[in-house]
Amino acid sequence: MITTRFAPSPTGRLHVGNIRTALHNWMLARQGGGRFILRIDDTDAERSREDYVDAIRADLTWLGLSWDAEERQSARLDRYEAAFAALKAAGRIYPCYESAQELEVKRKIALGRGLPPIYDRAALKLTDAERAAKEAEGTPSHWRFLLDHAEPIQWDDGIRGPQKFDAAQLSDPVIRRADGSWLYMMPSAVDDIDMGVTQVLRGEDHVSNTAVQIQIFTALYAAGFAAGESAAKTLPAFAHEALLVGREGKLSKRLGSLGCDAFRERGIEPEAIIALLARLGTSLPVEPIADRAALVASFDLATFGRAPAKFDEEDLERLNAGIVHQLPFDAVAARLPDGMDEAGWHAIRPNLAHIGEAADWWQLVTGPIVQPDFSAEDKAFLTEAGRLLVWGDSPWGALTTVLKEATGRKGKGLFLPLRQALTGMDHGPDMGELLPLIGEEEARARLGQAAA
Ligand code: GLU
Repeated sequence: MITTRFAPSPTGRLHVGNIRTALHNWMLARQGGGRFILRIDDTDAERSREDYVDAIRADLTWLGLSWDAEERQSARLDRYEAAFAALKAAGRIYPCYESAQELEVKRKIALGRGLPPIYDRAALKLTDAERAAKEAEGTPSHWRFLLDHAEPIQWDDGIRGPQKFDAAQLSDPVIRRADGSWLYMMPSAVDDIDMGVTQVLRGEDHVSNTAVQIQIFTALYAAGFAAGESAAKTLPAFAHEALLVGREGKLSKRLGSLGCDAFRERGIEPEAIIALLARLGTSLPVEPIADRAALVASFDLATFGRAPAKFDEEDLERLNAGIVHQLPFDAVAARLPDGMDEAGWHAIRPNLAHIGEAADWWQLVTGPIVQPDFSAEDKAFLTEAGRLLVWGDSPWGALTTVLKEATGRKGKGLFLPLRQALTGMDHGPDMGELLPLIGEEEARARLGQAAA
């Protein structure tokens, strides 16, 4: 059984990058008939906010990304305490006493010598007496996880292929602050074990975290921590997607703040966002596919490329129009102007880039409309149109056929003055569909007014 998770930190609103990660994890779970967990990573009590948690839920709901379970890190502190104790007993956690400034100085010195800024494990080399002295002085300690330099780190990444890391090239990660609070690294691994997560799919900014977490997973397994029926007994499969960049190819600030509110305001349908983000950065064609099941069925990590995925807002607009043209009346009825029925929706839908524009086009049906000034010749033609108009099943087809015969006009000369008289516009929805909606009485009135 596949279990995936989306693990946002509620320190802000979701942006396109997060939405993409959520969507892909959702698709992976739905494709395999598995579970999709929403995990709120709220160990940072200062920056986490409840209104962001609500907004994350609301955004996922608007996007139609339903989750099967919700978990919160702040409710699982006892599990992190247990994992910490197990790792400590196994000799994989050690206290450190350096201040932030000291660490920064060490970092600068290393960089100045052209060396990678890897933590030097000075705290590990303290003697028992030195450690006791620090404690006696009341120097606060934070805690690091001891990486095993002898253990090779490798995994077969679902997108990036075989990955290899040398643990000696990584810093032992700080997993707990001096005030007892948790950093991201260990709780996430504990959760993935406890929640039986089988696939971890996230952005490539997490690749080196994965290297570290693989050792945390392994150490937790070795310490017998993965108990319980639902716990994952083996490492999850990892996959890291290339990051999303703006059209210019750069990591853009704009993308970092572009979220559901902005999309909603611009009249972008969730299905357009889904259709774009489902396939962006893959070798599959990006098309206005409104059928989610089809998107889920075609989702395949093997189609993902290593190059950054370019998010282009023009693509989104194009897809939105394509999606709007397919939406059934039932799906949009509540957002349409009063009185607009299914026939009205079908007539007007092909002209819309956004559903919000329906009201402007519907105005052509309900009136009032503003007609242009017609030439004397066109006035005569429109008088003739009023005389020959017979209301039946397809009044437009019938009218244009008899008018063509009677006047010899064709093409633009035939259709344009009629469209202008009946709608006030040079272009617009199909007149065959529109005229029945305008109705006989109103149509006669408009032709009469145009000819006057
Ligand atoms: N809270 C982390 C983030 O938002 C989760 C990363 C992960 O998927 O493990 O980056």
